[in-house]
Amino acid sequence: MTKNSSTLFFGANVIVGDGSDPVEGTALLVKNGLIVGSGSVSNLAVPDDVERVDLTGSTIMPTIVNPHIHAGYLKGASTEAVNFSRENILDHLRRFVYYGVSVVQSLGTDRDDIELTIRNEQRSGALNDPELALLFSASRGIAAPTPGQENGGAFFAPDAILEAATPEQGREHVRLLVEKNPDVIKFWVDDRNGTKVKMTPDVYAAIIDEAHLLGKKVIAHIYELDDAKGVVRAGVDGTAHMVRAPGPDEELLALMTANDSFVFTSMSIQKMMVDGDGWLDDAALAETVDAATRQSFKAMIGQASPEIATMMTSGYRVLEAGLLQYHNAGVRVLLSGDTGVISQFPGFAEHRELEAMVLAGMPAADAIVSATLLPAQMLGLDDRGSLEVGKRADFIVLEANPLDDISNTKRIADVYIAGSKIDRGALRAGFQEEHHV
Ligand SMILES: [Zn+2]
Repeated sequence: MTKNSSTLFFGANVIVGDGSDPVEGTALLVKNGLIVGSGSVSNLAVPDDVERVDLTGSTIMPTIVNPHIHAGYLKGASTEAVNFSRENILDHLRRFVYYGVSVVQSLGTDRDDIELTIRNEQRSGALNDPELALLFSASRGIAAPTPGQENGGAFFAPDAILEAATPEQGREHVRLLVEKNPDVIKFWVDDRNGTKVKMTPDVYAAIIDEAHLLGKKVIAHIYELDDAKGVVRAGVDGTAHMVRAPGPDEELLALMTANDSFVFTSMSIQKMMVDGDGWLDDAALAETVDAATRQSFKAMIGQASPEIATMMTSGYRVLEAGLLQYHNAGVRVLLSGDTGVISQFPGFAEHRELEAMVLAGMPAADAIVSATLLPAQMLGLDDRGSLEVGKRADFIVLEANPLDDISNTKRIADVYIAGSKIDRGALRAGFQEEHHV
């Protein structure tokens, strides 16, 4: 599409992304990257010189927005600080777009402001590349210090995480962070199975209060029910995970709906060894991840003791039940890949997460809204997240309808960003070349 021309995408089954039923044969008229008309072709004012793209037989959906990644650490089968670089982050951003994930938010593990620099370049237009997902960043997150050892923040980046032992330290970190304009403030409340010091309620209350005073949303990493209640009572905007066993209770759900807090799904990261290792053979994954890397995760799964495998599975079933509890209670559920950690491959993890949500019993149409419109709204992106007039033409062309089978989101024919087709073949060739270096 040249810059000032119009394009008519016609014939597709269009999933708008707002939860409404798709309408077969909806056409989208796109100009300058924006949707300017939607409906049956006969009802649209189509210019004579329009470029026509026939999508008959396919289904289109908005590109995915994932507000929970950790950019730059995963390379091959390792999630380590040594991999963190501008180059590796850009590689991840390309992998996201390859799979139709157009916006991602990295949650608290930036180093040397590399994420923030990329984000600023994208916002100023200095870095204007449709093959890169749009990056949001929390900069560095905050955790309680554990005297004499690493803190209980992200295991792959404890040195990148700020430590607060007192409310005043928490406030001071928030003030310094906000000077760099992070997109959100992130903190961890977790004792990592009793091995680390957990942040206390007075400290996180101060962090949340200071962030809100300065106009920033706050996301808390929690695993336990009491901690979830604590952070929601203190006014947190959302939790980065659902609670583990026993799962959410009525009180938590009521607190979250009253506070309009959202919950991130973060399911597939707990699913690596649930239901075997067959998922690593997925043809859609093999397009970007080489056999040796996938084999090393298979070996990891194979080496897990039966006790560990059983524990992981029963813990996962709690998450599945919990997803429906949150969703049915009316809590805003947002897709979260925790992508870039262990076997959460950029771009693929998001499709695996969607699959996990639907397998748990969430209606596919709702899961797609959780993966598109709701996270876009949470990030303040009014111009995307659904395929409506006035929004950007960021969409995935699928060979089959994901409402029939959610795994169809992986059957990607094309990805369009602002109305322009991404050259997935060239991207794929680049990923495959990297493997031989
Ligand atoms: Zn995370």
